[in-house]
Amino acid sequence: MSNDASAQRLWEATLGHLQLALPRPSFDTWLRDTVGLSVADNKLLVSVPTTFTAAWLEQRMHGLIEDTVSKVARNSVAVYYQVRGADSLATQAAPGLPPTAAQATAAGEIGPAPQLNPSYTFKNFIVGPSNQLAYAASTAVSDAPGGAYNPLFLYSGVGLGKTHLLHAIGHQVATRGLRAAYVTTEQFTNEYLTAIRERHTDQFRERYRSLDVLLLDDIQFISGKEGTQEAFFHTFNALRDSGQQVVITCDRPPSALPLLEERLRSRLEWGLMADIGAPDLETRTAILQQRALTAPVTVPPEVIQFIAERIPSNIRQLEGCLNRVTALAHFTRRQVTIDLAVNALGAAATHQADGPSPKAAIAAVASYYNIPSSALVSGRRDKTAANARQVAMFILHKVFNLPAEQIGQALGNRDRTTVLYALKQVTKRMATDNQLTDAIQQLSASLSVKPAVSPDP
Ligand code: ADP
Ligand code: MG
Repeated sequence: MSNDASAQRLWEATLGHLQLALPRPSFDTWLRDTVGLSVADNKLLVSVPTTFTAAWLEQRMHGLIEDTVSKVARNSVAVYYQVRGADSLATQAAPGLPPTAAQATAAGEIGPAPQLNPSYTFKNFIVGPSNQLAYAASTAVSDAPGGAYNPLFLYSGVGLGKTHLLHAIGHQVATRGLRAAYVTTEQFTNEYLTAIRERHTDQFRERYRSLDVLLLDDIQFISGKEGTQEAFFHTFNALRDSGQQVVITCDRPPSALPLLEERLRSRLEWGLMADIGAPDLETRTAILQQRALTAPVTVPPEVIQFIAERIPSNIRQLEGCLNRVTALAHFTRRQVTIDLAVNALGAAATHQADGPSPKAAIAAVASYYNIPSSALVSGRRDKTAANARQVAMFILHKVFNLPAEQIGQALGNRDRTTVLYALKQVTKRMATDNQLTDAIQQLSASLSVKPAVSPDP
């Protein structure tokens, strides 16, 4: 849900910073396995695996954690820890923390309405072939709510911009003085259940039926909940019959929602369905360029390109990677370079998103020299194997931009200096050895990735 998603993002960005600030063992032991659960009223709830971890974080790292979260959020944020699977314990330990949805339901309360994210606007939405239809439909609905596209049903995998578009419609509609409500399906469900329990379903109905536009996020969570489906069905019909607009998002098309009542399913399919696909390279690049404008450091175009080429689909992930890179540069006072990006992203940046893996490259080199891959990884010392191994190192460096450490690891845990030596040797030999140059050219071409800008070893 959106509240949980923003808690996750806030916490993930914080972890990115903490990872740089803390010694690795300490980060791995205490923070790696933690999750941002919910955020409200400047209170962030973080899930931790054990009571011991909670106590440790509270006593030893609390100041640093709160400072970092506050820096990331650009706002003073209090942090609370919840031991996984022990709600009651956490409630005792942290009075006044924002209730998770489950707790809110249990306590019979309704959480605060999720606010529209001010940066989720049409202006900030980069349009490309993958989201063109969804974008066009969303702006059309904002211009003429209750018109031809009712309901508008947007669907896609995670992190591709559904919630962003929903908020953008909300902003746009509000500027025209219309009444719009953004609500997650979870919140809708909670409100409905509370209304039943407290016998004020009339109010519930009135509240929703007085809207011009209802924006309902993540409707996949309604499947299986019969009472809520019924409530939604009536609300939906009432709104639609009086010409009000309904916009719904989902992680799949209505036809793929299990256990959804047939009549509700067909209602959802009445209007316009628009899916959002994985963004292509240009769209990913444009999104990163836009995000880089607000980064604390300058991000050169080749680094934008480098990240865009390596993170294939999820835009949230794309942003996360950019954040890690700029955070590392910012905190270590270094310039943003490809070397630094490799450093910050580690495994995430080891190969191009749509290209072959380093493992495939090693196999290609081995087969070029007609020896098994294992010969490159093993200690085999004959001239053919040694030469092929050096070529593989060179390819992993030139084509995949792997740092020397990782190249060494990929080729049988050889150390960094061996790799650096090999890179130098190959470069030197290429000046005079045509066979070697041919081999490298052919292999690079056969791996069919364009050699990326290479950092110096
Ligand atoms: P979903 O709801 O589909 O899981 P979100 O709407 O939460 O995805 O989007 C994830 C992140 O990616 C958000 O920060 C959002 O602003 C950003 N984003 C998604 N699509 C675009 C786009 N086309 N242009 C700019 N930012 C985008
Ligand atoms: Mg969403």
